[in-house]
Amino acid sequence: MRILLTNDDGIHAPGLKVLEEIARGFSDDIWVVAPAEEQSGAGHSLTLTRPVRLHQHDARRFSVSGTPTDAVMMALRKVLPQAPDVVLSGVNRGANLGDDVTYSGTVAAAMEGALAGIRAIALSQVYHTEGLGDAVPFDAARGWGARALGPLLQAPFAPRSLVNVNFPPLAAEAVRGIRVARQGFHDYARGALVEGVDPRGYAYFWFGLHGIAHTSGHATDLEVIDDGYVTVTPLQLDLTHEAALAELAGRYAA
Ligand code: MN
Repeated sequence: MRILLTNDDGIHAPGLKVLEEIARGFSDDIWVVAPAEEQSGAGHSLTLTRPVRLHQHDARRFSVSGTPTDAVMMALRKVLPQAPDVVLSGVNRGANLGDDVTYSGTVAAAMEGALAGIRAIALSQVYHTEGLGDAVPFDAARGWGARALGPLLQAPFAPRSLVNVNFPPLAAEAVRGIRVARQGFHDYARGALVEGVDPRGYAYFWFGLHGIAHTSGHATDLEVIDDGYVTVTPLQLDLTHEAALAELAGRYAA
């Protein structure tokens, strides 16, 4: 089984090392093609206005001067001799729950794999304490990564679908199990906005991710992770709102 690893935190991110340890439990045929720099929040963006550079670190380890989507495209079009059987993206430093998935470079890299018809899984480690930098603990991902991935490497994946896995901010022994849950919803409009003045006297603004509310009690990934479980959420790239199709068609009918 050939596995492609990527992420949005960059080729040097601690979570990518954690993912490599997890993946090596399943295969020796591991390839890493990841962004050269952190791309968190890049979503599914594709670099079109400047060239992309490829840097080889060793025989099966490459970085790309672009987004997570660029990295997966380069892996599939240039780097790997044959398509991988699986694309794993992560382990992200921080949650990709609820509406995070549309902003997430981690999830977008898995989306790119899914678009190419490859089994694709995004993995993220939730943390609570801000300001830890690279010291964010990956205990739950380390302890539960193989248990979360095992069934997903066997399960059928529908075309243009992927799976999003999040690990709770707990020691591995404290994690209660694995739950399959639907995508929840955040209220990004009410998140933190940090304001300051730069050294040259100009105002700046910085989007914070703490303080983003969600409505609990709906049995989504957001609540399940709060209850101490690893969450497994199947996602689809077809964003069509089925229920609105007929209603809107009626409004355009002559
Ligand atoms: Mn990230």
